[in-house]
Amino acid sequence: MSGARRAPRTALVVGGGISGLVAARDLAARGLRVTLVEAADHLGGAVGAHEVAGLVLDSGAESFATRSPAVPDLLAELGLAGRVVHPNRTGSWLYLPEGAVPAPSSGVLGIPADPTAPRLRAALGRAGVLRASLDRRLPAFVGTTEASLGGLVRARMGDRVLERLVAPFTAGVHSAHPDDLDVDAVAPGLRRALREHGSLGAAAAALRLASPAGANVAGLRGGMNALSEALVHDLEEAGVKLVTDHDVIALDRDPRRDGWMVIQRQPRHGDKTAVARGELLVVATDGPTAVRLLAGHHETLQRFAPEAGPQVALATLVVDEPRLDGAPRGTGLLVSEDVRRVRAKALTHATAKWEWVREAAGPGRHVLRLSYGRAQADASAVPPEVSLPDDQLIRLALSDASTLMGVPLRPRQLVGADVVRWQSALPRAGVGHARRVAEFRRAVAELPDALAVGGWLAGTGLASVVADTRSQVRARLAAAGVPEASDPARPTRAPSSTRRKD
Ligand SMILES: Cc1cc2nc3c(=O)[nH]c(=O)nc-3n(C[C@H](O)[C@H](O)[C@H](O)COP(=O)(O)OP(=O)(O)OC[C@H]3O[C@@H](n4cnc5c(N)ncnc54)[C@H](O)[C@@H]3O)c2cc1C
Repeated sequence: MSGARRAPRTALVVGGGISGLVAARDLAARGLRVTLVEAADHLGGAVGAHEVAGLVLDSGAESFATRSPAVPDLLAELGLAGRVVHPNRTGSWLYLPEGAVPAPSSGVLGIPADPTAPRLRAALGRAGVLRASLDRRLPAFVGTTEASLGGLVRARMGDRVLERLVAPFTAGVHSAHPDDLDVDAVAPGLRRALREHGSLGAAAAALRLASPAGANVAGLRGGMNALSEALVHDLEEAGVKLVTDHDVIALDRDPRRDGWMVIQRQPRHGDKTAVARGELLVVATDGPTAVRLLAGHHETLQRFAPEAGPQVALATLVVDEPRLDGAPRGTGLLVSEDVRRVRAKALTHATAKWEWVREAAGPGRHVLRLSYGRAQADASAVPPEVSLPDDQLIRLALSDASTLMGVPLRPRQLVGADVVRWQSALPRAGVGHARRVAEFRRAVAELPDALAVGGWLAGTGLASVVADTRSQVRARLAAAGVPEASDPARPTRAPSSTRRKD
């Protein structure tokens, strides 16, 4: 890009998930006139709401990692700091082939800070505990050259910790086995902490302690969907043009205005072909879509085509069962891949985890959220449970919930249920991911005034997505010569304030 060009005054954001909304907010705050185009009929992507049995609940993300200040800072800017809540400290469980056992109560990603803790004996057995405790005696460098999370855990704590504690965790959160996950992408800072503290357990404890209140995650009273809602409200106030229901199928250079334009949109309703434009382009979609939209503009981008994450389905059940009041499995369970009699990969007992959900549901009524969709050997295959029709998946979820909670749940106790399906929403951060992301970003930086953001680049999770999107936007604006705003937290009101849904 030549330094002689004037700084962009308009921006086009494609994709209205959290990364697109945050990018639009920060661009508007720097005085750019922003148009955001989203394929779905709602904004927020994986952070949204649904109503089940009269309760408004999160349909996707329900919490954020507290390891960085990124999400708390954004919430404070949006006036939501007072709604931050922490989950109940009733602990969580694992479901192994022999049944339910308590999960580690310290550490990160299922890696225990202290593998000799009595609560882990059932999961690890005597031999497993002995092997894991070797971690404290091995030299600090052992495992630090492993690229995968699985390699690192196996080298330090052995197979039992890996398969019985860490693998259920990564299956639930990343839909992948630890051997297939890039350690730096899913556990930033873990290898450095290992070198500093001398053992993996101490490194996991240090990362956990770095989180405020010692908790790994926090949420919002009323649900994380309040974040999407507040961002959308703020963008409307700032005059950002929000266009929903338009699936962007191609992007091109705008020959008249030295910018970018959506040359073809495929409206779900009607056949309008209105064109959105902007001098600065931010692609904030899932990975395969971003590569498809940008590949025509740079010959090397095509080879970065990322693996689509597996399809996942969330079945939310609202049941009347006072025996669940005592939270028999704490905040919920992660299910080991070796378990055959349960198909869910995780269950969240939302009324035990979040006080606000318990209060909203009332005595004896419980919200159980089961997730389906394990990674398949063939990444393009749809996991069999995910392809079940909703009513069958709900029946399966009720049966799985009975097994996992150890309390029989009958169809007549079900007062409401809903199934939400997500595609490509949990991108896989395979080994070498961090390097591929850096290469992809270098190639995008060679395009005129273009940027790509989102979970597939930043790593899954709101903490990563928010932090990365903001730093990428900041760096791009600096490179493009856009002056710093006096108060970056407040979007400047720009002209053109219509919200279109055409
Ligand atoms: C079920 C589920 C539960 C989760 N739970 C948590 C949690 O508890 N805590 C946590 O931190 N993280 C959680 N996550 C992960 C977190 O939600 C995501 O990492 C984050 O929301 C990703 O934001 P994003 O903007 O990158 O992507 P998305 O939210 O996927 O947004 C991308 C947007 O781009 C749009 N788009 C795609 N193609 C086009 C196109 N051609 N034209 C226009 N628009 C397009 C999509 O419709 C979508 O709205 C969860 C994810 C899922 C799916």
